[in-house]
Amino acid sequence: MLHINPNRLLNDLDELARIGATADGGVSRLAFSAEDVAGRAWFEARVREAGLHYDRDGAANQSAVLPCANPAAPTFVVGSHLDTVPNGGRYDGALGVLAALEALRTIREAGLELPVHLEAINFTDEEGTILGEFGSFALTGYLTDDKLATPRGGREALIEGMDRLGIDFLSAKEARRRPSTLAGFLELHIEQGTRLEQAGIAIGAVTSIVGIRSFWLTFVGEAAHAGTRPLDERKDALWGAADFIQQARHMVRERFHPGVVNFGQIAAVPGAFNIVPAEVQLALEFRHGTEDHLNEMEIYLLSLAEQVARANHLTVRIDPVSHCTAAPSDERMVRAIVQAADQLGLSHQRLMSFAGHDTQTMSLITPSAMIFVPCEAGISHNPREKCAEQDILNGANVLLQALLIAAT
Ligand SMILES: [Zn+2]
Repeated sequence: MLHINPNRLLNDLDELARIGATADGGVSRLAFSAEDVAGRAWFEARVREAGLHYDRDGAANQSAVLPCANPAAPTFVVGSHLDTVPNGGRYDGALGVLAALEALRTIREAGLELPVHLEAINFTDEEGTILGEFGSFALTGYLTDDKLATPRGGREALIEGMDRLGIDFLSAKEARRRPSTLAGFLELHIEQGTRLEQAGIAIGAVTSIVGIRSFWLTFVGEAAHAGTRPLDERKDALWGAADFIQQARHMVRERFHPGVVNFGQIAAVPGAFNIVPAEVQLALEFRHGTEDHLNEMEIYLLSLAEQVARANHLTVRIDPVSHCTAAPSDERMVRAIVQAADQLGLSHQRLMSFAGHDTQTMSLITPSAMIFVPCEAGISHNPREKCAEQDILNGANVLLQALLIAAT
């Protein structure tokens, strides 16, 4: 069975981690920054050195390409992102790109003839320094004018950053590819959670990337004197919100496992020690792996809010904020990962990703899935992010085998 070259991959990870290295062992290689430019130049040199074809599209996505004999064949893409969050870790993204490059080098050296072209990709700005999943949105045709008009890092920063990478709005749109030119997509990534580590499992086959829905809930009661109004006669909006938080947490745990719910912000109005809160605005966000589950969660959570409001002599106003669709993996790709892990004698488990990745965008136009490997204590987006050598090598070998299974 074909295996990747362990020392070459580990050495690549070490070298790349020096670009943008921070004093505490982390990495700051923000998309569009000088460090990003340096990391990209380093990656390009590795691709050329390996005798692979180097390509860069109008969104500055960088690729190593190993063509097959048939020019009309579709391309199977593997990869992730080389950009990091500020003071992030060495493995988030980098592992997926460098393991993809290593898989292609290994296949090339073995002289394997596949029926598809292979491509190892570094997606631009996955982390959202300026826009988030910029490269995969461009490649899939989802880089809309809306997204370009109001990037979270600001339009000026986007224009300046694109200029630094030698791209512009027009070229970014031209990075779009037709689904018929693609054979599939696989991404290797650290789990950024503790499920694999706690279960002692080597490989996670990601069945879905969760969808996210968020709402503002405004509980409305009546302001009153905090001393003179008897407790039983109050219409305290915060009591309603607090009740709702407790009951919603219980409900999601009991009924919607492994779905999650969060209340990330709360504000009481008028907001004083001596006034019973008249209004409370509560940020509600919940996540699950399928749209069916999300629909059911939405019905249950919003009707619970209404029920709790009534029980507390309040009303509740519900304002939708955002809606990010769940991205189920392609079952054939998931089975390829499971089969690859079996062939390598590695334990595996199916699980959902509760964080966003380029895979969710790629899954909109081509059969896609992700491979997770454990990372220590689930720590990520942190200089202390750590992926054990054995897990790095396991993940890269599963990526290689799964690619060979899925591409043939
Ligand atoms: Zn990542």
